[in-house]
Amino acid sequence: MITVEQALAKVLSYVNVLEAETRPILDTLGQVLVEDIRSAVDIPPWDNSAMDGYALRAADTTGAGAGSPRVLRVIGTVPAGVFPDLEVKPGTAIRIMTGAPMPRGADAVVRFENTDEERRPAGSNEIGILCEASPGQNIRRAGEDIARGALVLKRGTVLRPAEVGVLASLGYPTANVIRRPLVAMLATGDELVEIGQPLTPGKIYNSNSYGIAAEVARYGGIPRVLGIAQDRETSLISSLRRGLEADMLITSGGVSMGDYDIVKDVLAKEGEITFWTVRMKPGKPLAFGTIKGTDRQGKPRNIPHLGLPGNPVSAMITFELFARPAILKMLGKQDFTKPTITAVLESPVENSDGRRVYARAIVEKRDGQYVARTTGPQGSGILTSMAMANGLVIVPEDRSRLNAGEAVQVMMLDWSEQF
Ligand code: AMP
Ligand code: MG
Repeated sequence: MITVEQALAKVLSYVNVLEAETRPILDTLGQVLVEDIRSAVDIPPWDNSAMDGYALRAADTTGAGAGSPRVLRVIGTVPAGVFPDLEVKPGTAIRIMTGAPMPRGADAVVRFENTDEERRPAGSNEIGILCEASPGQNIRRAGEDIARGALVLKRGTVLRPAEVGVLASLGYPTANVIRRPLVAMLATGDELVEIGQPLTPGKIYNSNSYGIAAEVARYGGIPRVLGIAQDRETSLISSLRRGLEADMLITSGGVSMGDYDIVKDVLAKEGEITFWTVRMKPGKPLAFGTIKGTDRQGKPRNIPHLGLPGNPVSAMITFELFARPAILKMLGKQDFTKPTITAVLESPVENSDGRRVYARAIVEKRDGQYVARTTGPQGSGILTSMAMANGLVIVPEDRSRLNAGEAVQVMMLDWSEQF
């Protein structure tokens, strides 16, 4: 049976970085930029005021203090968004708002709080300056954020809100990024009923399609839910055909040893099977291969197909370990790892048959160190154990038990500010 690392290497060898597309910048969050962004302009484009106050000549404020105001004549006001046509001459000042261009002649801004403006009658054309100003004070220089010609964002950058803002500051409505993979999700099982329909005896709701599609979206893919296929080859094949434009196909169920576990057979018939079963728990019956399809131009193409186990916990954990990195690779990302930490185990974890165990755990920080406890019953059908968990305690293949008090490795599913 292959290891988790071998299985992951196989899956990754079957997926490629996708092509670029041009998208409105607000739709590019988390996508990878495919071009260097250089600035054709200075940002800010001109020297401007960092404060609401008075633009003046610093030399005119020598000796100013709370008890010794320097009185200047106010010759006008500049709001933001307007170029001043006035010039500050010795003995004068211009009222200026934050972001407004500096008027000629002025070399400093003194903010309102350091003037006697509040005490002056309305309409006064003089202002008392209550502190000395130094040249350059409260002025934002042209190009101090971005200089004309500078490399602002490198290709390969993963766009976060800050980068989206930087693109907007340069005036870009769109950006060229690697497109998101379309990932089709098909549930298999005669026992499954679609949500919104009444449950009849012997049936359960199809939860995998939704949990897995939500994972696809979380990691930047576009999920397409294909519904439920019956445990018959004809049903599975016709359902899969509805997903052939996808960049990756995911099925759940039908990969075990049971009488109706036909996903492997269909993989073998409609494509090729690369591996089946991985030395892990939960998730052992994972199947991987390719299904024959065509690309957008109609050329033959092999579509990677991950056959996740049907048990909802197994499906989610195998998704995390194999589908998530595949999606990230298609998106052009370099780093596929989730944060892994060392924590002190509070409850023992057993490992009965030499596989790598991923035990659902709750990790907290207590007295400066991480502590981990399992979520309770670890059955692979207990989906609420995933809902409770924020991490997976990893039990190595060669350990039959991890004891309470031991320092263990935990792969974090969520990494929130509390850490
Ligand atoms: P299988 O791998 O098809 O043998 O399924 C293993 C277990 O997972 C069975 O108890 C199934 O009923 C359950 N299961 C399979 N698919 C789903 C699904 N889409 N949603 C919820 N449970 C499922
Ligand atoms: Mg089944």
